[in-house]
Amino acid sequence: MKILIRNGTVVTGPQIKTADILILDGTVAEVAPGLPENGADRIIEAAGKYILPGGIDPHVHMHLPGPAGYSSDDFYTGSRAALYGGTTTLIDFVTPERGESLIRALEKRMEEAKSSLADFSFHVSPVEWRKTTDEEIMECLSAGVTSFKVYMAYRDTVGLNDQDILKVMKSVAGAGGTVTVHCETGDEIERLRNSFYGEGHSEPFYHHLSRPAATESVAVARAVGLAEKAACPLYLVHVSAGESLNHIREAQARGQKVFAETCPQYLLLDSSRYLGDFNHTVPYIMSPPLRTREDNEALWTALADGTVSVVGTDHCPFTLAQKETGIGDFRKIPGGAGGVEHRLSLLYTYGVLTNRISLNRMAALISANPAVIFGLHHKKGTVTAGADADLVIWNPETQGIISSATHHQNCDINIYQGFPVRGNADWVIAGGRVIIENGILTGQQAGGKYLSRPLG
Ligand code: MN
Ligand code: MN
Repeated sequence: MKILIRNGTVVTGPQIKTADILILDGTVAEVAPGLPENGADRIIEAAGKYILPGGIDPHVHMHLPGPAGYSSDDFYTGSRAALYGGTTTLIDFVTPERGESLIRALEKRMEEAKSSLADFSFHVSPVEWRKTTDEEIMECLSAGVTSFKVYMAYRDTVGLNDQDILKVMKSVAGAGGTVTVHCETGDEIERLRNSFYGEGHSEPFYHHLSRPAATESVAVARAVGLAEKAACPLYLVHVSAGESLNHIREAQARGQKVFAETCPQYLLLDSSRYLGDFNHTVPYIMSPPLRTREDNEALWTALADGTVSVVGTDHCPFTLAQKETGIGDFRKIPGGAGGVEHRLSLLYTYGVLTNRISLNRMAALISANPAVIFGLHHKKGTVTAGADADLVIWNPETQGIISSATHHQNCDINIYQGFPVRGNADWVIAGGRVIIENGILTGQQAGGKYLSRPLG
């Protein structure tokens, strides 16, 4: 299959240039002006449109089990929504049961992900430290998993204490991998949750009061300290609080390998969303919770100045019925919201068009940086000869309004309901296959492949 994309404005690395792109059998073969048409099976005219590297969302939870049932997107519907939004690669998570081996849990998760339309990989979570954990981490590395996730919160299910986090970090660092951390001080949060509930406070509003910004920033400082001790590259997921950024900046200034991710919800939504009745506030139950407008602004600054290098989504939608399992007890509300579909359009509309970030910076945040940090840059995150043909033809002229009535996520709620957006992934090519054509999904077959990631 030979595809020629003509006259697009190619956004890659620090450059923006008008060029044609030749795709041959799934790979970008050439990027240059004036490429000949001869022999192309397909010619796509892209004048006036931007060509971005396919989005890489390194933080999604498809088909996540929990007391309220699985998160409402499985790998098929979630990857479909991702592709509609211009994301062609997903990194999800493997969360074993305590007592289950990491590699066994990884194999099970790979089966579940087979329906994915997008390429996928995983971060694996050691949820305890056992005699065999070091060996199991090495098995995962051999299976192409180079990043591991630990939780400082959720201590009764998946969270680790600091001593065990240090052990994971030493083991992973020794093998050349990266540790990602969910930073919230779990014990303090548990105390606050139970104390609010005990005082008769059951509404979603108390979810956010029981997780104040300091419970994140204190945990960030601790994670940074542990990673320094272990000489382990550190990736902080879903940073939400301005206070956390100070610790990250200090560590980066010392030369420590610390990367930070934030998500559109922490840039664009604030804690005023927790004021109101149950049905209107419950969609915003997620951890960490939404913060203040000052935090939003601090995160935008950190995106522009390089402190935060990735925008992921923490995509994990639950339906209103699922959220209603927490009526009368905010501690039982399943935490999470969908967003995988909206990452590019939100960043484009509220970041690029407001001049908070450049278009090149956007391409770095949504694709090039996660590719480098998670070992996918040999093939992804760039529009150059030799890379996988994962491309988004971005139409900057379109306008829309985000709505659960028209989104592609499998969920009846949308936390960005009513948000106007500009720009759209008119065409999405993944692995050299046209998946979205003029805004419509055409490639319905599961064509996503597992990405085994090399070290270094
Ligand atoms: Mn988390
Ligand atoms: Mn998450």
